[in-house]
Amino acid sequence: MKLKAAKNIGIIAKHIVLPSSTNEIELLGILSHLNLDPHVHGVIVQMPLDCVNSINSNLITDSVFPNKDVDGLNSRNQGKVAVGDLATGFLPCTPSGCLELVKRSGTKIEGSHTVVIGRSRIVGTPVSELFKWHNATVTTCHSKTKNLDEVVANADILVVAIGQPNLIKGEWIKKGAVVIDCGITSIPDATRKSGSRLVGDVDFEQARKRASWITPVPGGVGPMTVVMLMKNIVLAAVKAARTL
Ligand code: NAD
Repeated sequence: MKLKAAKNIGIIAKHIVLPSSTNEIELLGILSHLNLDPHVHGVIVQMPLDCVNSINSNLITDSVFPNKDVDGLNSRNQGKVAVGDLATGFLPCTPSGCLELVKRSGTKIEGSHTVVIGRSRIVGTPVSELFKWHNATVTTCHSKTKNLDEVVANADILVVAIGQPNLIKGEWIKKGAVVIDCGITSIPDATRKSGSRLVGDVDFEQARKRASWITPVPGGVGPMTVVMLMKNIVLAAVKAARTL
């Protein structure tokens, strides 16, 4: 999807496929080469790493130069988001896609109660930060949160990123809430030719009866993530051109 989107808008994108036997030193060497190549404006390392060796994924994301970190996963860029600098770095793609979807729905974020379920480095944590800096009052939930249904029931905006199919029940959702479902899990489905289908973390069929806006899975947050990645790459190229 990322390669296709890039081609459609004239970005030259190269997919470097490494063997699963690649080790940390080798991966760092490749990143170092890409970091120093002036023809390369953006670098992403597809996570999770599909590798037989143990590789520190935080070290890898921190090894992409911040000015080429179009995934927005380097600690420098993440730190900027955490302290409310949303302009000088790169916003992480899935979280900024969630924000854009809510903005485009016309929902007022300022003053809303936004509940984010999940606190991962890639999705939940930066989603919480982004909504906080858009003046929402944010509650962040995670695997140890008690009475999740009661917290969800108070959400004007609900963003879910947990990776547990249909965990969030439709009846928990406040009438008129905006629901953004980041989850993508493949579950068995004998009625499909492939034998499986993708589902989100929210029970879509029940939730859609209560939500004012809700993202489907697939076809919601996923494509938005790709769009935000393209936006970051264009931004990276513009920034690089300005430093020439
Ligand atoms: P993760 O496993 O890193 O984090 C999951 C989070 O959910 C954790 O913070 C955990 O505390 C919380 N959690 C787990 N069980 C819970 C429960 N029962 N109640 C409350 N919280 C619970 O996952 P991730 O990388 O954040 O991804 C989450 C989902 O989003 C996955 O399905 C993933 O495939 C999907 N995802 C989609 C995109 C996209 O582009 N659409 C991008 C990244 C991730």
